[in-house]
Amino acid sequence: MGKLLLFQLLTPALIDTFSNRMLVIGSLFLHPVCVNKTKIGERSMEVIGIAGAGISGLTAAIHLAKNGFPVRVYEKGEDVASRFRSEFQGLENWSRDEDVLAFLERIGIAPRFYHKPFNEVDAVNDLGRKCTIRSLSRPGLYIVKRGRESDSLDQYLKSRALELGVEIEFGQPTMSQDIRIIARGPQAARSVAYGMEAEVDHPDRIAVLLDDRIAPKAYAYLIIVDGKMTLASALMEEFHRAKECFASTVKRTQAMYGVSPRNAHPVAGYMDFALRNSYMDGGRMLVGESAGLQDFFLGFGMRYAIVSGYLAAESIVQGLDYDQLIKGEMEKQLKSSLVNRYIFEKLGNRGYRRLIRAWERSDDVVLLMRRWYGWRLYKGLLFPLAGRWLRRKRRVGWQRQRERVTAA
Ligand SMILES: Cc1cc2nc3c(=O)[nH]c(=O)nc-3n(C[C@H](O)[C@H](O)[C@H](O)COP(=O)(O)OP(=O)(O)OC[C@H]3O[C@@H](n4cnc5c(N)ncnc54)[C@H](O)[C@@H]3O)c2cc1C
Repeated sequence: MGKLLLFQLLTPALIDTFSNRMLVIGSLFLHPVCVNKTKIGERSMEVIGIAGAGISGLTAAIHLAKNGFPVRVYEKGEDVASRFRSEFQGLENWSRDEDVLAFLERIGIAPRFYHKPFNEVDAVNDLGRKCTIRSLSRPGLYIVKRGRESDSLDQYLKSRALELGVEIEFGQPTMSQDIRIIARGPQAARSVAYGMEAEVDHPDRIAVLLDDRIAPKAYAYLIIVDGKMTLASALMEEFHRAKECFASTVKRTQAMYGVSPRNAHPVAGYMDFALRNSYMDGGRMLVGESAGLQDFFLGFGMRYAIVSGYLAAESIVQGLDYDQLIKGEMEKQLKSSLVNRYIFEKLGNRGYRRLIRAWERSDDVVLLMRRWYGWRLYKGLLFPLAGRWLRRKRRVGWQRQRERVTAA
């Protein structure tokens, strides 16, 4: 009886001790998993700060908020996309296998913003020869609006983030302690664009003009959608000639398309491109053009901004290494686009004529471009030369460029 009483008294204590021991042993075996979970649990209590409410910062914010993390975004402007007026930009659909809208849908960003698919684009060379290039398998790009209009990509991302409980503080150019993701956009100019947005009476059309005389080492572009036009010259060199180049672009497109712009407003901006050893800066993740993540070949940076914002959030959610994620997902594509740019810059207008002929001959330009963004042996051989060429190129503070562009 005494023994039974003793057993009954000791049993709960023994079970407690046993289960505690098993927990300790278990936690030793399960150490990495337990530590990660605790970290994610602890982190989810901290507010994740993001500097910049551009498309990269807001994509990161949305993915974090969807996974239960409290997020605060600090934006220096009074609204999102304050550096854009309300111009059109193209969301490219050739650098990856997955359709860009399907990717957005997969990461929880349903395309409820204005977007118009295009399967045809005119390409014009320096001799004024025009051809239409086509993509059959899927749209080559989707035209989206940037800026203040309520159906722009930026406004949609903002409303989606707010819906998920993200706090956005406007007029806050901050780099405070809680910043984990830097999404401040370009910090210097490697390329500038100068042009206008206006109203026109003309059917929808996209044209790209490849001629170093009107767009040194880049291209001029015309986008007409729903009676609105964005026309600009993008330059990789001779930034001081931006206005003059744009005036030539206007003349050329008027002669070709007969557009007469009404209610025109200027559009100007700059882009930054870089290849980095690390996409971390003092423990913070650099995303989008803050990191120089941009398409070297044609300057289509939106997709890079969205993908890198998503990967930064994913590295927090899953406790993964951001550098490894970015390098695994983007490095070959970035290097490949750099080699493409290097080749065409070296060849100049002759190279652009060949480029256009290759586009024209292709049945499906998306598939051709997909190949060009892939990694090949010859790209590996040319990459050291392209890297050296990039390092030699001047990358100038935007303030100085703005002075040059406006003084011209
Ligand atoms: C004229 C022009 C035309 C373009 N056309 C195309 C195109 O057709 N297709 C395409 O794919 N790409 C295009 N691009 C490039 C594309 O717009 C960019 O690559 C993309 O917007 C980069 O996104 P981001 O989030 O890195 O930066 P952004 O969209 O620039 O956002 C950065 C945000 O950070 C804010 N910020 C800056 N500093 C601070 C700070 N210290 N604290 C808080 N907030 C800060 C800024 O106000 C801004 O809102 C174009 C660019 C220009 C200039």
